Order: sequence, then structure tokens, then C-alpha cells
Amino acid sequence: MQSPRTQLSQAATSARQDYDVLVVGAGFAGMYMLYRLRRLGLRARVLEAGDGVGGTWYWNRYPGARCDVESVQYSYQFSPELEQEWTWSERYATQPEILRYANHVSERFDLRRDIQFGTRVVSAVYDDAAARWTLTTGTGESFAAPFCVMATGCLSATNRPRIPGLDDFDGPVHHTGEWPHEGVDFSGQRVGVIGTGSSAIQSIPVIAQQAGHLYVFQRTPHYTVPAHNAPLAPDYVRAIKAEYRSLRARAKQMFSGIDFRINPSSALAVDAQTREREYESRWEYGGTTFMGAFSDLLFDRDSNETAAEFVRGKIRSIVRDPKVAHALSPRDIIGCKRLCVDTDYYATFNRPNVTLVDVTEAPIERITPAGVRADGRDYALDALVLATGFDAMTGALNRIDIRGQGGRALKDKWREGPKSYLGLMVAGFPNLFTVTGPGSPSVLTNMLPSIEQHVDWIADCIEYLRVRGIARIEPTVEAQEAWVEHVREVAGPNLRSVCSSWYIGANVPGKPRVFMPYIGGFPQYVARCEEIVAAGYAGFDLGPSRAPR
Ligand SMILES: Cc1cc2nc3c(=O)[nH]c(=O)nc-3n(C[C@H](O)[C@H](O)[C@H](O)COP(=O)(O)OP(=O)(O)OC[C@H]3O[C@@H](n4cnc5c(N)ncnc54)[C@H](O)[C@@H]3O)c2cc1C
Repeated sequence: MQSPRTQLSQAATSARQDYDVLVVGAGFAGMYMLYRLRRLGLRARVLEAGDGVGGTWYWNRYPGARCDVESVQYSYQFSPELEQEWTWSERYATQPEILRYANHVSERFDLRRDIQFGTRVVSAVYDDAAARWTLTTGTGESFAAPFCVMATGCLSATNRPRIPGLDDFDGPVHHTGEWPHEGVDFSGQRVGVIGTGSSAIQSIPVIAQQAGHLYVFQRTPHYTVPAHNAPLAPDYVRAIKAEYRSLRARAKQMFSGIDFRINPSSALAVDAQTREREYESRWEYGGTTFMGAFSDLLFDRDSNETAAEFVRGKIRSIVRDPKVAHALSPRDIIGCKRLCVDTDYYATFNRPNVTLVDVTEAPIERITPAGVRADGRDYALDALVLATGFDAMTGALNRIDIRGQGGRALKDKWREGPKSYLGLMVAGFPNLFTVTGPGSPSVLTNMLPSIEQHVDWIADCIEYLRVRGIARIEPTVEAQEAWVEHVREVAGPNLRSVCSSWYIGANVPGKPRVFMPYIGGFPQYVARCEEIVAAGYAGFDLGPSRAPR
């Protein structure tokens, strides 16, 4: 008679669902991956923790959430028909509009039938002998395939602050990255927002309009520039649609994958008046293109300081209370942390129902059942908003127990910081791909073209292997080490690598401090990926062969 354990394992094996490729995540990356795999005639299954598509835009439903890359560029380009039929209504689309877009894409390309929602992958284990990945979900379901694509997102693992007493708070606590779908009514309430990064900067002006009183607990002030968001004029949309191909081509030649004008001059090569005029016109235009005012803002501290001081001047002119203006003014490098884009952020601190609580010197002591204790005071609150961001780039991957050759855990391999080849694959983890992984331009770019480039690379790679009957691909340790070294080297001269940002994991206690994205620029990166393919996947071990398809 079989033991219960044998019976169980047999049941699990027979229940295992087999595919050609498994994809984890149904954000923009997972959706496009599925589209490409289907066109290759492959059987693919997408496993998604949420109950719908859209990833970032499914989860981040906080008030004021919107993109900070202009909508006409923050969109897929793989389908010219899709580009023509979808019309963005605002310069920076709101979260609901971007989510509608994601749903439209999933319906237009009939993606849903191959996506299993409400399914969190908890482990991914590679079987050397069978050359297969087996993924297990939180409910014990199991899926297997020769290839696995982690489309789990760079900013999808929320970062909850470790503040004593957080669980004791009597009222509701909402993280901006896990916002309730039914919305939150703050009318008349005393609300505390912890954190002043991008999500806080977007949500604070909107929450302030509804709340009875809003307390903003700020540890580090951020630079933010106005969005000057507005509805898109039909003529503008028509003009963009008429020239979409050349707009996309121009964008691909830009460091950030975004089409905009960079002034080739150094900030220090012009006189003060010319400099001021350039900053003023960029401020008036709005958005992150402010950093294109001069070409050396991210390479020369003195140049950078001219831009930083311009923004501080703006804060002083907008915020009436000089003490509050001072507290809101960052002292560090502008653009070092991701530059934020806002609507009325600084002006919100002129409202009588908004209080800035500067916790730079004395961090929040604790959360009590009634509110927040900080700065030697108790702030009574009805609701708390955690705008504390994400365990970026590695968080979602490390929350899955990923085991490669010989059962080695990815978490252990990355204990000193992530190592990968091109941000696409990791030595010791054959046939496992990461979309916009650490070591690729990813979060330093417009993510949509970066996602599409990675998905295309992965789909072409899988096809290359199948056509030649090659069962396995994996980067060599040497190629990976050389890439990691290159990523480190190019980060060196860039001012972005010097401050305590989430790019280096500084927002998560205990996380190794490594500058994670590749800062060599989108065009240079794409060229490198293409050279590697042209050289027969240089730096990768391929094999063994089986009968070609
Ligand atoms: C508020 C906000 C605003 C942003 N604005 C911009 C912008 O303006 N421009 C820009 O370029 N980028 C922006 N980004 C970055 C944004 O994350 C990317 O642009 C893009 O949406 C990422 O798509 P993705 O599919 O790679 O990842 P995501 O959209 O994060 O999707 C990943 C999916 O994987 C799922 N998942 C993760 N782990 C598991 C698991 N173990 N099991 C099952 N499912 C799992 C998640 O539930 C999620 O749905 C923004 C990010 C945030 C948070």
C-alpha cells in the first residue's frame, strides 16, 4: 500500500499543469510577453496575484495617482493599430485611465483566457535533470514549463515602514501601493501621511482637499516640478498619431527612452540670466524634462546646484511660511532620487488644514492606537496613509523562493546585491528570464519601451533555442561578472549613484547598497543586447541540443 505521502506527491504530480512557458505577473510586461509567446505558437500561462491586469495601475489606486511620463509616450508601440485607436485624454493620464487602457489591451488581444488571476507564486524551482521550472502557488497549485519569465515588476513589492506600534493603530492604515478598490473617504478626518516620495507628492494635494486636517510626516524632502497637466487637444493628438513612428524612433535614441529636447550646453557655460531663463521655461513647460535644461546636471555638482537652487527659490516663492518652505527644500542633488512631478504640491502647504511635521532630526517615535508620536508630540489621527514606496527592483523576486541549479536560492546569490547578465538572466538559473531586472536601464527610463525591448529579446531568444533544438540557456559567470562590473563603472561618474535613494536600496533597512539599474542609457544598452545576439548569444552557455523543432 502506498504511504499517504506518496499518494499526495502523486496527486500533486498528476495535478501539475504543463506549459511551454510560464509568466509571473500580468502588468504591461506580462501582458506583452503573453502576446509575443502566443504569436510564436507557444502554450503560455500567466500567473497573477491580483484579480485583474495592469500591475502597477491595478494596485496603485491612491488619490492623484497618474503617470509622470507623458501618456502619448507611456504606452505600447508594438501595435500601430492600437496606437491609432486609443486616445489619451490628458497629458499625464490618471490611474483609472491607464487601467482602462490595460483592460482594453487585454480585451483587444484576447489575453485573459491565458491569465490565471488571484494566484500568487510562492516558489519557482528548477529541475536540472528535466530542464524544467516548477512554480507553486500560495494555494498549492503547481505549474511546470521549460521556460519561466518573471514579469513581477520593479515597483510592486510594497515597503511597509518598521515603526514601532504600527499594528496597534485603531484606525485604518492604507499603503498607497495597495489602495482599497472601493476608494477611501477622508471627509472631515484627521489623516496622517508618512513619506514624501512620488506617491505622497501626488496624493497629498488631493487628500488635503477632502480631509479635515492633514499631517504630513516628512523625513526627507524631495524635489518636485509642476506637471502642468491638462486635457490633450484633439489637434495635438491627431498630430502625434500622424507621426507616431518617428516619435518612437526619436525616443529610442534618447538616454531615457523619452523624446524630449536636451540642451547640449553646460549650466556653467552660460551667464546667470540665460540659465534662469532656461530653468524658467522648463518649469513653465512642466515635467521631468526639467532635467534636460543643461547636459551636465547629473554629472557636475556645481551645475546641479544651480538647478537645485532654482527649485528652492520656487519653493520659497510658493510657500508662505518661511519655516515650512525651508523644511520642504531639499539640500541634496536634484535628480539623484527620481524627480517627482506634481500638481499643486508646494501650494498645498499654504492650506490651513495642512501641517508639515518635519521628522528629519527626530524620527517618528511610535504609532499609538490614537495616532503618531513624533517630535515630542502626539498627533491624534483617524486614518494613516503609508506612502513609503517599494522594495524596488529585487523585492518582488526575492519574495518568491526561486531555486536554480543545485537548489541554490536566488536570495542567497543576491545577498550582497543583485547580479545578472543584462538584467535579463542570472548565472545558475537556466531558462529563467527577468523583465527589466536589476542591471538593465529599467526604472531610469520610460518603462514601456524598456519592457517591450526586454520582452522582444526574450521571445526571440526562446524562438532561437526552439528552432535549433537547444534545451537550455544560461549566462556564464564570467560574462555576468563583466556586466556587473560595467554597470558599476558607468554608475560611478553619475551623480545619481551617490545619494540614499531606492535606486541603491537605501529605503529598505538591511538591503545591500548597490546601484541597481544600468545607467549607460537606453540606446547603448539596446545596442549591447543586439550585439550579443548577433554574436550567437555571446556570454551565454547554450545546450544541450535535442531534436530541432
Ligand atoms: C505609482 C507609480 C507610478 C509610475 N509611473 C510611471 C511612469 O509615469 N512612467 C514609467 O515609465 N514608469 C512608471 N512607473 C513604473 C511602473 O511600475 C512601470 O511603468 C510598469 O507599469 C511596470 O510594469 P510591469 O509589468 O513590469 O510590472 P507591474 O506593473 O508592477 O506588474 C507586476 C505584476 O506582477 C504581479 N506579481 C508580482 N509578484 C508576483 C507573484 N509572486 N505571483 C504572482 N504575481 C506576482 C503583481 O501583482 C503585478 O501585477 C510607476 C510606478 C508606480 C508605482
